[in-house]
Amino acid sequence: MTEAQMIRRKRRQKELRRRRAVLGALVLCLALIPVLLFSCCDFQKAEAQAPAGAGQPSAQPRQKTASPEPVKAETVASKDLPEGWKILSVSEEDLAEGSLVLVNRDYGYDPGLPQTVSVYDCKNHSYLVKDTYLSIREEAVEALNDWMDAFAAETGRTDVNIVAGWRSFEDQTQLYQNAVETKGQAHADAYLALPGHSEHHTGLAIDLDTYDVDTGASGGFDGDGDYAWAVDHAWEFGYIQRYPSGKSHITGIDFESWHFRYVGLPHAFLMRSEDLCMEEYIDYLRAHPFAGEHLQVSCFGTDYELYFCPKNQVIVPTAGNYTISGNNVDGFIITIQRP
Ligand SMILES: [Zn+2]
Repeated sequence: MTEAQMIRRKRRQKELRRRRAVLGALVLCLALIPVLLFSCCDFQKAEAQAPAGAGQPSAQPRQKTASPEPVKAETVASKDLPEGWKILSVSEEDLAEGSLVLVNRDYGYDPGLPQTVSVYDCKNHSYLVKDTYLSIREEAVEALNDWMDAFAAETGRTDVNIVAGWRSFEDQTQLYQNAVETKGQAHADAYLALPGHSEHHTGLAIDLDTYDVDTGASGGFDGDGDYAWAVDHAWEFGYIQRYPSGKSHITGIDFESWHFRYVGLPHAFLMRSEDLCMEEYIDYLRAHPFAGEHLQVSCFGTDYELYFCPKNQVIVPTAGNYTISGNNVDGFIITIQRP
């Protein structure tokens, strides 16, 4: 590493420490990563009080259902709050925290928010990374390690190369301008988000490529051949192909075989089984408010209960394990892990 590289790295680390200090005061619990037990997943709709996980296990995607129209979630009067639940105090800034933040043309994201770690420093030997500076959120790199380990065990391949992770506003500006200059405005608009509206600002998105260590050639990541396994099994590790074919009229971005987004489990499973892209999934969750039907999901031996709360009233259990994620739009998704 050159002295210039060391200086850049130190600056980057200093910036990361600053962000961690600022965000360290947030009280939301966000980092619970489900343990992968390699069984199977299932889900059913049920009333909040119904026992969870009673359905027949099935990892097969369910028949596609129409994405429900967003509903106006009603708040619950304090006196009507059932025993075992409490109202959690949240801030507007918390909407941008968690693995389910929606970022697209309509909903921007502050690139300065996420705490990220160097993929190079955290990776295993089952894949490659472009350089030592590329960083993503810690929960995303842990899942990536498991995903690439499984891919390498299945195919013997260790040549997947991570070529993009967290991006600053300036990075995205440069990419967008380069694309306009070299490939035209139409191409830039089809494949690149405007600065401030890229998923890469969240630290939860990665771009995959392949790298031939003998020739130094980049092979792209088309998801065909051996790589189809990585695409088909991404959901098991909490990753989704964020811009699928047939959904560009919703996502605003053409099909990208290489761009993956970490959302965690059981969300990646639900999105796959219901054939929902991120925009549709956020609407789907919003249609399951605290006061209505909660989603009951069994995934890899763990039972989950999911529901949506508007940002003006977030209700969580008084005990037990749960994670909470803002949707970067209008509310929070609570994911309870049942014992
Ligand atoms: Zn990307």
